[in-house]
Amino acid sequence: MENLWLAALGAADRDRLKPHLETRDFVHGQVLFGEGQDVDCVWFPTTGVVSLMTLLDDDKLVETAVIGREGVVGVTCGPLNARAASRAVALTQGQAACCPARAFSEAMSASEALRLALARFTEALMAQVQQVAACNARHALDERLARWLLSLHDRVGDTRFDLTQADIAGMLGVRRATVSEVSASLEDRRLIERGRGWVRVLDRTGLKAASCGCYGQMRAVLEELDLPTPQAA
Ligand SMILES: [Zn+2]
Repeated sequence: MENLWLAALGAADRDRLKPHLETRDFVHGQVLFGEGQDVDCVWFPTTGVVSLMTLLDDDKLVETAVIGREGVVGVTCGPLNARAASRAVALTQGQAACCPARAFSEAMSASEALRLALARFTEALMAQVQQVAACNARHALDERLARWLLSLHDRVGDTRFDLTQADIAGMLGVRRATVSEVSASLEDRRLIERGRGWVRVLDRTGLKAASCGCYGQMRAVLEELDLPTPQAA
């Protein structure tokens, strides 16, 4: 597997970054960097999904974006201004190519094409964060869960993936008891199946119909910006 953003770069830019890339594994729940921390490394996931989370003052974390093999983790906050605005947490296990922030910054200084490619990605990420903020505020819990499961399905590439009740509660911003209720509404319609610590997508088309329009809008932004879109098998 490769990172789609890296793969879409021109040969000269890939060669510029290649000597600095190091493969790293991450595990479910691993914090890649915390909010307010210096970001010393830029992550290009090749498998798995990373969640960007914002910490609220009541100690609750709210998810604002998910990034998989289509994207880059650690750029909106650094290396240009170094400190992370959000916490990056691995939502699944996975692997990434990592580039030291300093080397990435130097490569960007040397290449206009690289700066543009990154600007397109950060624009799409900003659009995703705005969409998720609006979605969290207005859309129904079952629509949001459907939207989120579709975006994970795209990035994991498998119909079955590990997902705990706590992960879902964190994304929806609800108590665990509510997760069962919301999830049951999708299970009763045979759109998903859920067991202890995992979810399986049974009916992707039905799940799309059950989700809010935010899923389609976020994909449309990636396409408009000519960025690679993650695609479920
Ligand atoms: Zn929505």
